[in-house]
Amino acid sequence: MEMCKCENEPEARSLNFIEQIVEKDLAEGVNGGRIQTRFPPEPNGYLHIGHVKAICMDFGIAEKYNGVCNLRFDDTNPAKEDTEYVETIERDIRWLGFKWGQIFYASDYFEQLYDLAIRFIKEGKAYVDEQTAEQIAEQKGTPTEPGVASPYRDRPIEENLQLFEAMQRGEIEEGKMVLRAKIDMANPNMHFRDPIMYRIITSHPHHRTGRKWNVYPMYDFAHGQSDYFEGVTHSICTLEFEVHRPLYDYFIDQFSGANFCGLSPYGPDYRPKQREFNRLNITYTVMSKRKMLQLVKEGLVAGWDDPRMPTVCGLRRRGYTPQAIRTFMDKIGYTKVEGMIDQGLLEHTIREDLKETAPRVCAIFDPVKLVITNYEGEGETLVAENIDGHPELGTREMKFGRELWIERGDFLEEADNKFYRLSPGGREVRLKASYIIQATGCEKDAEGNITTVYATYDPDSKSGTEGGNRKTKATINWVECNSALDAEVRLYDRLFAVENPSAEEGDFRDLLNPNSLEVKTIKIEGSLRSELHEPVLVDGIEQENHYQLLKQGYFVVDPDTTADKLILNRTCSLKDNYLK
Ligand code: ATP
Ligand code: MG
Repeated sequence: MEMCKCENEPEARSLNFIEQIVEKDLAEGVNGGRIQTRFPPEPNGYLHIGHVKAICMDFGIAEKYNGVCNLRFDDTNPAKEDTEYVETIERDIRWLGFKWGQIFYASDYFEQLYDLAIRFIKEGKAYVDEQTAEQIAEQKGTPTEPGVASPYRDRPIEENLQLFEAMQRGEIEEGKMVLRAKIDMANPNMHFRDPIMYRIITSHPHHRTGRKWNVYPMYDFAHGQSDYFEGVTHSICTLEFEVHRPLYDYFIDQFSGANFCGLSPYGPDYRPKQREFNRLNITYTVMSKRKMLQLVKEGLVAGWDDPRMPTVCGLRRRGYTPQAIRTFMDKIGYTKVEGMIDQGLLEHTIREDLKETAPRVCAIFDPVKLVITNYEGEGETLVAENIDGHPELGTREMKFGRELWIERGDFLEEADNKFYRLSPGGREVRLKASYIIQATGCEKDAEGNITTVYATYDPDSKSGTEGGNRKTKATINWVECNSALDAEVRLYDRLFAVENPSAEEGDFRDLLNPNSLEVKTIKIEGSLRSELHEPVLVDGIEQENHYQLLKQGYFVVDPDTTADKLILNRTCSLKDNYLK
């Protein structure tokens, strides 16, 4: 796979190739000018950022061309699916800001699909095969060599009917028989070599239909038909389905056009059309529900919403905003070429988003105490802008007093003249949004570690007053000791240590980055006390609060926060390596 660095400006972007197809179809009046799409997740895991690429396409096309996008759960495999996943998929799509028309389930069509299968059998287009999955696979042939016909291929229609009905009644053991379409064992497209239409699953009840069904349709027999029953016009999916498209069309041909038999209200000329675009792959992560499920089940991450996960709920907990995720999709665009997107682009996008909106606060990660020896009185309340130079974005109060926490690295007992921060010897340093100070000395413990730094301040140098304009070579962060809050920060890094874990040999779990999480306790300004509460819901959706901790990065309040303990997750650092 090639590595792409793509950056289209969304405003200036020309139509993507799917939009071009849609506009052509509209101009030609295809399907009466109707636009209907669907997003068809299988409820067997949580949505990941790859799905969001499809969501932005499916919902985006409907939005842009006055159509409708429905949500359809592709729930044809009860062994892997669950209502838990249905609920989280709905929640994640709502959080992203998309609205579906209706919710459908492939399982809504089990009756119709079964009837269709019976019709295929009666028309001599399907047969029951008793071979094992391995035998069937062995007979498939290769793209250049034809396959071998199953010994059951020419079974009489009546026998096929009886066996298929017995399969559905639960009289046949799982794995013992399948229903196959009788198409062409020599077709150069392997998907035409008598694809499986139905299999038996008796081991698991279905999350919606319970034990009603013992046979379940395969993807190829369910997906196109579901599109057809619903009236989908543009069935947009990822490139790996391109080779399935002729089969998608073949099945629909059997009951539309000249073969129309009333299965759609849109008449004989109506046709859903499948179109494919490139999947999203991102460096240093995996994009497969199966692998993610394994990480969750084995406790290798804290859950589906672990902030290191590429899931929608993980990104959200990491501090990604819906807007940033959608902007990212706009930047990468849609093509027919598979590639790998640099994780740096995703980080760049959220950084650019938060730069405009996240209030700045002071936090001290490696604190040492600073005492301002000439400061008298109880302390005072200063007012600082949430984002410097943007008074319209509000202000916050900062307590100031005689004792402050500063970063240990901002003080040197002996420094050369390239060090502009605190050191005894007359250099002036500004405390962020506050006064100018000069260090006078320090105190150490028996091991020689500095325990307290001493300084004096200039009462006429306060920011926001005339003296506040006086320039210093350095500004340092601080938080006032009495009002400071302890916070836990969770510093996340990439989940995998290698760029493309899916391309490596061996077990992908061995490729996890052992240093993907560091937890620290820090001092943060008391204004964050307002965050000590349960998450706030607006329209049933939790609201995330984002901050820039000055010099440290962008952080989001974690939902584990309680009235006693503030927890912040690092979304990304301040440094952007992507553009370099
Ligand atoms: P996974 O391989 O992670 O299990 P899937 O393709 O089986 O994913 P589905 O729930 O079947 O997951 O996918 C729903 C829709 O999302 C499909 O239309 C699929 O094409 C699309 N999709 C899934 N993964 C990606 C991806 N990485 N990039 C773009 N679209 C994707
Ligand atoms: Mg799938």
